Amino acid sequence: MAFVKLTKSKKNIQFREKVIELAGNAVIKCYQCGECSGGCPEAGAMDLLPNQVMHKIQLGDESVLHANTFWICSTCLVCSTRCPKGIDIAKVMEALREIVLRSKQSYLTLDSLEEDDLKEIPQIAFVSSFKKQTQ
Ligand code: SF4
Ligand code: SF4
Repeated sequence: MAFVKLTKSKKNIQFREKVIELAGNAVIKCYQCGECSGGCPEAGAMDLLPNQVMHKIQLGDESVLHANTFWICSTCLVCSTRCPKGIDIAKVMEALREIVLRSKQSYLTLDSLEEDDLKEIPQIAFVSSFKKQTQ
């Protein structure tokens, strides 16, 4: 069984442990088969595929928190049902959202939007986005 070699840096370990605390320790069992990414209906819009997210978590690489993947994720659970290791990947995505939200960073701010976007995007989309993505 091929496991990814896990990093030993204290900061990396702390990040990985935080994800494990929120999403369960199955994340360390990922062996990069790609089944999750192969079935993800949102993969085309993600800057990191779900299996790549899992790899970064195993390495304790906090740069994964800058990916759009876990914000794009619609929690459809396809990945979780396809994973041969029984990893609840949707829960991992939720854990990453939670870590960002707890750090009081906002993924979306009104200042970052163009005036045309503000006119065209339905208000309910803003409400939904702020509810999900800001604290
Ligand atoms: S739960 Fe998220 S990551 Fe998993 S398949 Fe659905 S959209 Fe993709
Ligand atoms: S399906 Fe499971 S084991 Fe395969 S890459 Fe995705 S998380 Fe890893």
